[in-house]
Amino acid sequence: MKYKVSLQKCDSYDIKEVDKAIEALLEPLGGMSKFIKKNDKVLIKPNMLSCKEPERAATTHPSVIEAVVKKCFEAGASEVWVGDSPPAIFGRTEDFWNKTGFAKATEAAGGKMLCFEKDEKANIAFKVFGKGITASVIKKVFDADVVISLSKMKTHNLTRITGAVKNHFGFIPGFSKALWHKKFTKVDEFSAFVTELAKSLPVKLHIMDGVEAMDLQGPASGRVKRNNILIASESPVAVDFGFCKVVGLKPETVPIIKYCQRINWGPNSFNDVEFVGTDIEDCLVKGYIVPPAPPVYLIPDFVLEFIRKLIWTGPNLKNNKCVKCGRCKNICPAKAIGITSSGAEFDRTKCISCFCCMEVCPLEAIEMKASPLMAIILKLRNVRNILSRNKKNE
Ligand code: SF4
Ligand code: SF4
Repeated sequence: MKYKVSLQKCDSYDIKEVDKAIEALLEPLGGMSKFIKKNDKVLIKPNMLSCKEPERAATTHPSVIEAVVKKCFEAGASEVWVGDSPPAIFGRTEDFWNKTGFAKATEAAGGKMLCFEKDEKANIAFKVFGKGITASVIKKVFDADVVISLSKMKTHNLTRITGAVKNHFGFIPGFSKALWHKKFTKVDEFSAFVTELAKSLPVKLHIMDGVEAMDLQGPASGRVKRNNILIASESPVAVDFGFCKVVGLKPETVPIIKYCQRINWGPNSFNDVEFVGTDIEDCLVKGYIVPPAPPVYLIPDFVLEFIRKLIWTGPNLKNNKCVKCGRCKNICPAKAIGITSSGAEFDRTKCISCFCCMEVCPLEAIEMKASPLMAIILKLRNVRNILSRNKKNE
């Protein structure tokens, strides 16, 4: 089976240009009317990770939200709700809506914002590596006739990329997301959890905003990288394959995609993907830098016990930025953070390297740090990658 992935170049967030690009993006998939029928109630879930302005590229751009909400109404929707739940809401949800531009864009298109934290919840059951799991998600995801995901093209220090499959994690409201990090501390376990969650939710259409993407230390404090691309598919895994293709990343090196391949969910390789829309050659970008897969997770537990003190990646405070607000401490699922007179302090013996603290820090005062030995390993891996790239080009 071939999975259709639509690609569309879009060079700015000017609403007229985004309107046109969304129309062209959906056209090869059958248009919005393929997904929405008259009087349908629609739920749209963008990525609202941080309380930051749209130009920081940590959140789905409001122009993309506005264009998609409009398209839903044009296709006959009677109601359109827009919402997401960040890892932790400190203060009012409305502050997130306003700072990210979500509220203005949604209202301009005639939709309504939905507060996931206050809305009703529903339990869903699924299995992760054979173990039964019950997770609480927002009930609207089942009440809506159509659910659309609007993910952001970003990197992630734990899962390498945060794309269409991982966007489903936000259907779990509020602080409980951090507890799932604690339950599934290894990246392969966490990737399996997120994938099984995504498989259990009825999301029909997946659109990724990569006009202004984020690379390096994503998903909250990386570099803004202009990739000028929108990607859409009925399969979230296929959208993430599109992401990999555009930035030149091997899909099997992304832990979530690797798990999807293992359970045969979505395409298994690029041979299973049919790219439509803008010619793929015109969409390829250079210089998008994805963090390496954390090799510490590949080491067996009994070996890890001996070398944990020598090989680690974890959070580190950047000089003079911390204002001791305590948000990182409150979100940390491993209780590994204390706030002292000099700012946040991290207990490496407790830290599970989930990087939730980095995601919620409002001042981007936390960076990822590798131990000296890990830094050498990462450097050697880079050299090896460069050598193998050169060899391929010979
Ligand atoms: S590191 Fe960031 S989140 Fe943590 S206390 Fe400092 S400013 Fe607040
Ligand atoms: S210190 Fe940060 S990275 Fe470590 S467990 Fe706590 S939230 Fe996760």
